[in-house]
Amino acid sequence: MDKVRMTLDECRDLAIEVLTRHGCDERNARAIAATITAAERDRCHSHGLFRLPGYVTSLRNGKVNGRAAPRVERLAPSVVRVHGDRGYTPLAHEIGRAPLVDAVRETGMAALAITRTHHFAALWPETQGLAELGFVAFAFTSSPPYLAPAGGKTRFFGTNPMSFAWPRRDKPPMAFDQASAAMARGEIQIAARDGRQVPDGVGIDGDGNPTNDPEEILEGAQLPFGGYKGSSIALMVDLLAGPLIGEVCSFEAGEQDNHDGSAATGGELILALDPARFGGDDAIDHGERLFARMLALEGVRLPGDRRLIARAETPEAGIEIPQVLHEKIQELRTD
Ligand code: NDP
Repeated sequence: MDKVRMTLDECRDLAIEVLTRHGCDERNARAIAATITAAERDRCHSHGLFRLPGYVTSLRNGKVNGRAAPRVERLAPSVVRVHGDRGYTPLAHEIGRAPLVDAVRETGMAALAITRTHHFAALWPETQGLAELGFVAFAFTSSPPYLAPAGGKTRFFGTNPMSFAWPRRDKPPMAFDQASAAMARGEIQIAARDGRQVPDGVGIDGDGNPTNDPEEILEGAQLPFGGYKGSSIALMVDLLAGPLIGEVCSFEAGEQDNHDGSAATGGELILALDPARFGGDDAIDHGERLFARMLALEGVRLPGDRRLIARAETPEAGIEIPQVLHEKIQELRTD
């Protein structure tokens, strides 16, 4: 497949240009472009420039407010809420981060509830950023219904990702970020675009039959990872990012959505814990002893290490995107 190479600065500038052209103000465009660029930097291509046409679709048809002005409220000493004003999540997250950090520093454990936003990105930027400040972090968001619950044959849950990050001693945090689905929808879309089959257990067709054809799965339903265990995680995420924070569940998001392929309305819950207030000064060093013993096992790596290796390489090597995607984005610069 033909590829186009660019620097991270070119990636960010291209995203800002296209987003502002199609209805974002500068603040929203910069916040979204930062998440797209971070995804490309860490070689998480399904949340990089690949998403840009989808962001544009929902800006153009008015589903998402490109000029959103998120509002922060401190609901309790340890509970912060940001009303996202129907925008994409990155700006709401950016605005809610400082009050969340203030709250966790004061109380030892705090939550940020982001409501009325559209999450169309990976979750690790949220948890990793908090762990870089020394906090343990969790993030949860739901998405439109694409996932059949264990035993079911029709879509009900979102692909509902969760992320967890742990601060390291003199190293970038350990952060994992995983969908409740056996394979993230963006990866299935990329497989469909590239004409590749997907592994067994990823999804079922519209009649509920197992299939390896990504197009059939996109029309049918995805399956949870690990059978009923992944299904329960998807259920938990639906509850935490929905009813707990006064937001919609996946099935409700699906009922309200215009099905344009971009993110539906919904919420995100972020939790931050200060390890010094729990395990004391030794908490981080104790974690290091766990990592050291784990990494001494043959064939084992830490989650997130693939991203950290990519991150070290991309500033110099640049990024590569498929020629077809580059052409599509070039069209968005002018039409
Ligand atoms: P993957 O299955 O690719 O990876 C899940 C996690 O497992 C990553 O942290 C990964 O780390 C880690 N991992 C993979 N292989 C190993 C290994 N051999 N040993 C240890 N750890 C490993 O991710 P998903 O496909 O489940 O999700 C992809 C993305 O999609 C996520 O970022 C998620 O937030 C996003 N998403 C967003 C949605 C939204 O609505 N906004 C909806 C659904 C998904 P590493 O990166 O280092 O490989």
